[in-house]
Amino acid sequence: MEMDQQGTIKALDALKRMMSPCVLCPRQCRIDRVAGEKGFCGLAAEIVISEAMPHHGEEPPLSGTHGAGTVFFSSCNLRCLYCQNHQISRQTTGQVMDPEGLARVMLRLQELGCHNIDAVTPTPQTPLIMAALSSARHQGLTIPFIYNCGGYEAPETIRMLAGMVEIYLPDMKYGRDDLACQFSGVKDYTVHAVASLREMKAQVGDVLEVVDGVARRGILIRHLVLPGLTDNSFAVLEMVRQGLSTQVPLSIMSQYTPTAQAQRHPLLGRRLYREEYEKVVNYALELGFEQLFIQQVDERNLLPDFEKQAPFSWE
Ligand code: SF4
Repeated sequence: MEMDQQGTIKALDALKRMMSPCVLCPRQCRIDRVAGEKGFCGLAAEIVISEAMPHHGEEPPLSGTHGAGTVFFSSCNLRCLYCQNHQISRQTTGQVMDPEGLARVMLRLQELGCHNIDAVTPTPQTPLIMAALSSARHQGLTIPFIYNCGGYEAPETIRMLAGMVEIYLPDMKYGRDDLACQFSGVKDYTVHAVASLREMKAQVGDVLEVVDGVARRGILIRHLVLPGLTDNSFAVLEMVRQGLSTQVPLSIMSQYTPTAQAQRHPLLGRRLYREEYEKVVNYALELGFEQLFIQQVDERNLLPDFEKQAPFSWE
Protein backbone atom coordinates (compact mmCIF):
# COMPACT_ATOMS: atom_id res chain seq x y z
CA MET A 1 0.00 0.00 0.00
CA GLU A 2 1.69 3.20 -1.18
CA MET A 3 0.62 6.50 0.32
CA ASP A 4 0.34 9.74 -1.66
CA GLN A 5 1.86 12.96 -0.37
CA GLN A 6 -1.45 14.35 0.92
CA GLY A 7 -2.12 11.12 2.79
CA THR A 8 1.36 11.20 4.33
CA ILE A 9 0.95 14.80 5.50
CA LYS A 10 -2.41 13.94 7.08
CA ALA A 11 -0.98 10.88 8.83
CA LEU A 12 2.03 12.85 10.13
CA ASP A 13 -0.30 15.55 11.52
CA ALA A 14 -2.54 12.97 13.15
CA LEU A 15 0.48 11.23 14.71
CA LYS A 16 1.76 14.51 16.09
CA ARG A 17 -1.62 15.22 17.66
CA MET A 18 -1.41 11.84 19.41
CA MET A 19 1.41 13.26 21.56
CA SER A 20 -0.74 15.96 23.14
CA PRO A 21 -2.35 14.46 25.09
CA CYS A 22 -0.12 11.42 24.56
CA VAL A 23 -2.03 8.30 23.57
CA LEU A 24 0.66 6.90 21.32
CA CYS A 25 0.90 3.63 23.20
CA PRO A 26 -1.49 1.66 25.43
CA ARG A 27 -0.14 3.35 28.56
CA GLN A 28 -2.25 6.37 27.54
CA CYS A 29 -0.37 8.79 29.82
CA ARG A 30 -2.40 11.70 28.39
CA ILE A 31 0.22 14.30 29.18
CA ASP A 32 1.12 17.04 26.71
CA ARG A 33 4.52 16.09 25.34
CA VAL A 34 4.54 18.92 22.81
CA ALA A 35 4.34 21.29 25.80
CA GLY A 36 7.32 19.48 27.38
CA GLU A 37 5.47 17.18 29.78
CA LYS A 38 6.80 13.65 30.22
CA GLY A 39 4.92 10.43 30.81
CA PHE A 40 6.01 6.88 31.59
CA CYS A 41 8.61 6.79 28.80
CA GLY A 42 10.20 10.01 30.08
CA LEU A 43 10.49 11.56 26.62
CA ALA A 44 9.27 14.98 25.54
CA ALA A 45 8.52 15.65 21.86
CA GLU A 46 12.05 15.16 20.55
CA ILE A 47 14.13 12.44 18.95
CA VAL A 48 16.73 10.83 21.21
CA ILE A 49 18.95 8.09 19.83
CA SER A 50 21.53 5.92 21.57
CA GLU A 51 23.29 4.37 18.61
CA ALA A 52 23.06 4.13 14.84
CA MET A 53 25.15 1.66 12.87
CA PRO A 54 25.24 -1.12 10.29
CA HIS A 55 24.18 -4.13 12.35
CA HIS A 56 24.97 -7.72 11.43
CA GLY A 57 23.15 -9.43 14.30
CA GLU A 58 19.57 -9.33 13.02
CA GLU A 59 17.91 -12.28 11.24
CA PRO A 60 19.75 -13.10 7.94
CA PRO A 61 17.23 -11.45 5.53
CA LEU A 62 17.41 -8.26 7.60
CA SER A 63 21.19 -8.12 8.06
CA GLY A 64 21.94 -9.34 4.52
CA THR A 65 25.59 -8.87 3.55
CA HIS A 66 26.00 -5.19 4.44
CA GLY A 67 24.00 -5.04 7.64
CA ALA A 68 20.71 -3.62 8.78
CA GLY A 69 20.78 0.16 9.17
CA THR A 70 19.94 0.01 12.83
CA VAL A 71 18.96 3.05 14.87
CA PHE A 72 18.55 2.35 18.59
CA PHE A 73 16.13 4.87 20.05
CA SER A 74 16.46 5.76 23.73
CA SER A 75 13.79 4.76 26.27
CA CYS A 76 10.85 2.39 25.87
CA ASN A 77 7.20 2.15 26.79
CA LEU A 78 7.85 -1.14 28.61
CA ARG A 79 10.27 -1.65 31.48
CA CYS A 80 10.94 -5.39 31.34
CA LEU A 81 12.77 -6.80 34.34
CA TYR A 82 15.00 -8.84 32.05
CA CYS A 83 15.40 -6.30 29.21
CA GLN A 84 18.28 -7.43 27.00
CA ASN A 85 18.88 -3.82 25.85
CA HIS A 86 18.54 -2.30 29.32
CA GLN A 87 21.52 0.06 28.87
CA ILE A 88 19.49 2.10 26.40
CA SER A 89 15.85 1.22 27.05
CA ARG A 90 15.89 2.65 30.57
CA GLN A 91 17.57 5.90 29.73
CA THR A 92 16.14 8.96 28.09
CA THR A 93 19.54 10.45 27.30
CA GLY A 94 21.44 10.16 24.04
CA GLN A 95 21.87 12.20 20.92
CA VAL A 96 18.97 14.64 20.66
CA MET A 97 18.05 15.59 17.11
CA ASP A 98 15.24 16.95 15.02
CA PRO A 99 13.60 15.04 12.13
CA GLU A 100 16.04 16.56 9.61
CA GLY A 101 18.97 15.28 11.68
CA LEU A 102 17.47 11.79 11.79
CA ALA A 103 16.76 11.93 8.05
CA ARG A 104 20.52 12.55 7.53
CA VAL A 105 21.31 9.51 9.70
CA MET A 106 18.97 7.38 7.57
CA LEU A 107 20.55 8.59 4.33
CA ARG A 108 24.05 7.96 5.71
CA LEU A 109 23.11 4.37 6.62
CA GLN A 110 21.85 3.89 3.05
CA GLU A 111 25.14 5.31 1.68
CA LEU A 112 27.02 2.77 3.82
CA GLY A 113 25.18 0.01 1.94
CA CYS A 114 22.71 -0.99 4.68
CA HIS A 115 19.73 -2.93 3.38
CA ASN A 116 17.11 -1.13 5.43
CA ILE A 117 16.45 1.36 8.20
CA ASP A 118 15.87 -0.73 11.31
CA ALA A 119 14.21 1.49 13.92
CA VAL A 120 14.58 -0.24 17.31
CA THR A 121 11.99 0.72 19.96
CA PRO A 122 10.39 3.46 17.87
CA THR A 123 7.04 3.47 19.72
CA PRO A 124 7.31 6.58 21.94
CA GLN A 125 9.09 8.56 19.20
CA THR A 126 6.96 7.42 16.27
CA PRO A 127 5.57 10.80 15.07
CA LEU A 128 9.02 12.36 14.78
CA ILE A 129 10.61 9.25 13.29
CA MET A 130 7.92 9.18 10.60
CA ALA A 131 8.50 12.86 9.86
CA ALA A 132 12.21 12.05 9.47
CA LEU A 133 11.40 9.08 7.22
CA SER A 134 9.16 11.22 5.02
CA SER A 135 11.92 13.81 4.64
CA ALA A 136 14.55 11.13 3.92
CA ARG A 137 12.26 9.59 1.27
CA HIS A 138 12.08 12.99 -0.47
CA GLN A 139 15.86 13.16 -0.38
CA GLY A 140 16.38 9.75 -2.02
CA LEU A 141 15.98 7.10 0.68
CA THR A 142 14.79 3.95 -1.10
CA ILE A 143 15.60 1.10 1.29
CA PRO A 144 12.76 -0.45 3.35
CA PHE A 145 11.85 0.95 6.76
CA ILE A 146 11.54 -1.59 9.59
CA TYR A 147 9.35 -0.88 12.61
CA ASN A 148 11.16 -3.00 15.23
CA CYS A 149 8.99 -2.74 18.34
CA GLY A 150 8.20 -4.46 21.64
CA GLY A 151 4.64 -5.44 20.75
CA TYR A 152 2.92 -3.27 23.36
CA GLU A 153 1.47 -1.01 20.69
CA ALA A 154 -1.73 0.93 20.21
CA PRO A 155 -3.44 -0.36 17.05
CA GLU A 156 -4.64 3.22 16.36
CA THR A 157 -1.00 4.34 16.13
CA ILE A 158 -0.02 1.40 13.92
CA ARG A 159 -2.97 2.27 11.63
CA MET A 160 -1.43 5.69 11.01
CA LEU A 161 1.74 4.07 9.65
CA ALA A 162 0.02 2.43 6.67
CA GLY A 163 2.00 3.07 3.51
CA MET A 164 5.09 4.28 5.37
CA VAL A 165 6.38 1.07 6.96
CA GLU A 166 7.55 -1.72 4.67
CA ILE A 167 8.49 -4.30 7.31
CA TYR A 168 7.05 -4.85 10.77
CA LEU A 169 9.31 -6.61 13.27
CA PRO A 170 7.25 -6.80 16.48
CA ASP A 171 8.02 -8.81 19.58
CA MET A 172 5.30 -11.06 20.90
CA LYS A 173 6.64 -11.41 24.42
CA TYR A 174 3.72 -12.85 26.33
CA GLY A 175 0.79 -15.16 25.91
CA ARG A 176 0.03 -14.77 29.62
CA ASP A 177 -0.96 -11.38 31.01
CA ASP A 178 0.02 -12.36 34.56
CA LEU A 179 3.62 -12.62 33.35
CA ALA A 180 3.37 -9.34 31.43
CA CYS A 181 2.19 -7.73 34.64
CA GLN A 182 4.90 -9.34 36.76
CA PHE A 183 7.86 -8.79 34.41
CA SER A 184 6.88 -5.72 32.33
CA GLY A 185 4.39 -3.89 34.54
CA VAL A 186 1.43 -3.97 32.11
CA LYS A 187 -1.88 -5.76 32.64
CA ASP A 188 -3.09 -5.72 29.06
CA TYR A 189 -0.17 -6.80 26.88
CA THR A 190 -1.82 -9.59 24.95
CA VAL A 191 -4.96 -7.77 23.81
CA HIS A 192 -2.97 -4.81 22.46
CA ALA A 193 -0.24 -6.97 20.98
CA VAL A 194 -2.68 -9.19 19.06
CA ALA A 195 -4.78 -6.24 17.83
CA SER A 196 -1.60 -4.51 16.63
CA LEU A 197 -0.36 -7.64 14.88
CA ARG A 198 -3.68 -7.80 13.02
CA GLU A 199 -3.29 -4.18 11.93
CA MET A 200 0.27 -4.86 10.77
CA LYS A 201 -0.92 -7.87 8.79
CA ALA A 202 -3.66 -5.77 7.18
CA GLN A 203 -0.98 -3.40 5.89
CA VAL A 204 1.85 -5.67 4.78
CA GLY A 205 0.42 -9.20 4.71
CA ASP A 206 1.52 -12.16 6.77
CA VAL A 207 4.66 -13.23 4.97
CA LEU A 208 8.13 -11.76 4.55
CA GLU A 209 9.00 -11.10 0.91
CA VAL A 210 12.70 -11.78 0.34
CA VAL A 211 14.52 -10.87 -2.88
CA ASP A 212 18.12 -12.04 -3.40
CA GLY A 213 18.36 -12.95 0.27
CA VAL A 214 17.19 -9.56 1.52
CA ALA A 215 13.77 -8.73 3.02
CA ARG A 216 11.76 -6.14 1.07
CA ARG A 217 8.35 -6.12 2.71
CA GLY A 218 6.18 -7.99 5.20
CA ILE A 219 6.25 -9.09 8.79
CA LEU A 220 8.49 -11.13 11.06
CA ILE A 221 7.38 -11.77 14.64
CA ARG A 222 10.02 -12.27 17.31
CA HIS A 223 9.60 -14.24 20.50
CA LEU A 224 12.27 -14.53 23.19
CA VAL A 225 11.84 -17.81 25.05
CA LEU A 226 12.12 -17.21 28.80
CA PRO A 227 13.65 -19.84 31.13
CA GLY A 228 11.15 -22.05 32.94
CA LEU A 229 8.25 -20.53 31.00
CA THR A 230 7.69 -22.72 27.97
CA ASP A 231 3.93 -22.50 28.65
CA ASN A 232 4.16 -18.76 27.97
CA SER A 233 5.81 -19.52 24.64
CA PHE A 234 3.15 -22.10 23.79
CA ALA A 235 0.44 -19.51 24.53
CA VAL A 236 2.23 -16.99 22.28
CA LEU A 237 2.33 -19.49 19.42
CA GLU A 238 -1.37 -20.29 19.84
CA MET A 239 -2.28 -16.59 19.87
CA VAL A 240 -0.29 -15.90 16.71
CA ARG A 241 -1.90 -18.87 14.99
CA GLN A 242 -5.40 -17.74 15.96
CA GLY A 243 -4.86 -14.01 15.49
CA LEU A 244 -2.89 -14.14 12.23
CA SER A 245 -1.99 -17.44 10.61
CA THR A 246 0.66 -20.13 10.57
CA GLN A 247 2.12 -18.59 7.41
CA VAL A 248 3.61 -15.73 9.38
CA PRO A 249 7.38 -16.05 9.84
CA LEU A 250 8.53 -16.41 13.44
CA SER A 251 11.92 -15.76 14.92
CA ILE A 252 12.16 -17.91 18.03
CA MET A 253 15.04 -16.56 20.09
CA SER A 254 17.14 -18.58 22.52
CA GLN A 255 19.55 -15.85 23.52
CA TYR A 256 17.99 -14.95 26.87
CA THR A 257 20.73 -13.83 29.27
CA PRO A 258 19.96 -12.72 32.84
CA THR A 259 20.72 -9.07 33.46
CA ALA A 260 21.99 -7.91 36.86
CA GLN A 261 18.40 -7.09 37.82
CA ALA A 262 17.14 -10.56 36.91
CA GLN A 263 20.01 -12.58 38.33
CA ARG A 264 18.34 -13.35 41.67
CA HIS A 265 14.95 -14.05 40.18
CA PRO A 266 13.85 -17.67 40.80
CA LEU A 267 12.96 -18.21 37.12
CA LEU A 268 14.76 -15.49 35.20
CA GLY A 269 18.13 -15.90 36.92
CA ARG A 270 19.52 -18.45 34.45
CA ARG A 271 20.05 -19.06 30.75
CA LEU A 272 17.62 -21.16 28.78
CA TYR A 273 18.09 -24.94 28.65
CA ARG A 274 18.44 -26.47 25.20
CA GLU A 275 15.48 -28.80 25.91
CA GLU A 276 13.22 -25.86 26.70
CA TYR A 277 14.08 -24.16 23.45
CA GLU A 278 13.59 -27.36 21.46
CA LYS A 279 10.17 -27.90 23.06
CA VAL A 280 9.06 -24.47 21.86
CA VAL A 281 10.41 -24.97 18.34
CA ASN A 282 8.79 -28.41 18.13
CA TYR A 283 5.47 -26.98 19.28
CA ALA A 284 5.64 -24.29 16.59
CA LEU A 285 6.21 -27.03 14.00
CA GLU A 286 3.33 -29.09 15.42
CA LEU A 287 1.00 -26.09 15.14
CA GLY A 288 1.95 -25.79 11.48
CA PHE A 289 4.18 -22.71 11.38
CA GLU A 290 5.99 -22.86 8.07
CA GLN A 291 8.77 -20.33 8.36
CA LEU A 292 10.90 -20.34 11.47
CA PHE A 293 14.13 -18.53 12.23
CA ILE A 294 15.87 -20.47 14.97
CA GLN A 295 19.09 -20.02 16.95
CA GLN A 296 21.65 -22.24 18.63
CA VAL A 297 21.34 -22.33 22.41
CA ASP A 298 24.59 -20.70 23.51
CA GLU A 299 26.07 -20.73 27.00
CA ARG A 300 27.95 -17.45 26.55
CA ASN A 301 26.74 -14.08 27.77
CA LEU A 302 24.92 -12.68 24.76
CA LEU A 303 23.82 -9.34 26.12
CA PRO A 304 24.75 -6.52 23.74
CA ASP A 305 27.15 -4.04 25.31
CA PHE A 306 26.21 -0.61 24.03
CA GLU A 307 29.07 1.00 25.93
CA LYS A 308 31.53 -0.94 23.76
CA GLN A 309 29.98 -0.10 20.39
CA ALA A 310 32.24 1.81 18.04
CA PRO A 311 30.77 5.28 17.58
CA PHE A 312 29.04 5.86 14.25
CA SER A 313 29.55 9.16 12.50
CA TRP A 314 26.70 10.43 10.36
CA GLU A 315 28.06 13.87 9.60
S1 SF4 B 1 4.46 7.10 24.41
FE1 SF4 B 1 5.26 7.57 26.46
S2 SF4 B 1 4.05 9.30 27.20
FE2 SF4 B 1 2.96 8.43 25.41
S3 SF4 B 1 1.46 7.03 26.25
FE3 SF4 B 1 3.28 5.82 25.81
S4 SF4 B 1 4.56 5.82 27.68
FE4 SF4 B 1 3.01 7.45 27.88
